[in-house]
Amino acid sequence: MSYNLWNNFIVQERARLALQKIFYRNQFPAAIIFFGSKGLGKEAHAFAFAQSINCYKNDFEPCGECERCKNVYNFLSPDIYLVYATPTSQVDKNKSFSKVAQLLEKKK
Ligand SMILES: [Zn+2]
Repeated sequence: MSYNLWNNFIVQERARLALQKIFYRNQFPAAIIFFGSKGLGKEAHAFAFAQSINCYKNDFEPCGECERCKNVYNFLSPDIYLVYATPTSQVDKNKSFSKVAQLLEKKK
């Protein structure tokens, strides 16, 4: 059994190419935001990319066999954190805008 995540979901080729480009340039941004419609596989792409980065093979196509590949596959990697944006309501947005307005007013 291969633990290569790239083989386990419908890959969005455009996203894969963008991630591949980042990998081979070896210039990783501090963060990558995966966004898009529901059901596109944002999390799957993020985990597959994490596997590519962590694999001992050091290639965009992870080996799917090493300990790191297995850890990512099984959600056991201690180095991977999931960060989700929390939805904000319009009321919350207005509150923060008014807070900013108050701070600006104080500055005058
Ligand atoms: Zn591997």
